[in-house]
Amino acid sequence: MRAPRVGVLALQGDTREHLAALRAAGAEASTVRRRSELDAVDGLVIPGGESTAMSHLLLDFDLLEPLRARLADGLPAYGACAGMILLASEILDAGADGRAALPLGGIDMTVRRNAFGRQVDSFEGDIPFEGLDSNVRAVFIRAPWVERVGDDVQVLARAAGHIVAVRQGAVLATAFHPEVTGDHRVHQLFVDMVNGRGDPAAT
Ligand code: GLN
Repeated sequence: MRAPRVGVLALQGDTREHLAALRAAGAEASTVRRRSELDAVDGLVIPGGESTAMSHLLLDFDLLEPLRARLADGLPAYGACAGMILLASEILDAGADGRAALPLGGIDMTVRRNAFGRQVDSFEGDIPFEGLDSNVRAVFIRAPWVERVGDDVQVLARAAGHIVAVRQGAVLATAFHPEVTGDHRVHQLFVDMVNGRGDPAAT
């Protein structure tokens, strides 16, 4: 089997660490900035950054509707922090009118933007993650949390009582940044999902 082609949306945010983590997890990783690059990938990572800025860059680059369409068509995706916000079906505190973060609808969930940021800008801790045999170091930077999940959404991790990692089908999202820790297990999970493995229903 060839290595899966996994793109990292590279309009804004921390792309380099995701590319390295994906390669360590066995993927052929590349940046995605244009439609042809989006069309060529088997899976997509949406990195952390600023979800409002990324939304409007998606519009400027004519990628918003093509990405929504590919997600609706089953494209495997993983969003970290700002990426989690964008993958939601509903965003609370989305930002000022006209510049607000725009939901892509990859996961049936309601996410509150900057939720932890209101309490404490940045923090980290070791938390259990469903399916992993030991805790992951979770680094939160002005992070969102998940306030509602649909029936088909699996909750993978919580921090301080809030949902911070979820999966629905082939779409994964974390409120934290595993790409900065050197622990590639979350990226490995995603690459396995892109390969059609690691389905919770099958394990
Ligand atoms: N607060 C940012 C946003 O609203 C997310 C922060 C991050 O990605 N580290 O998009």
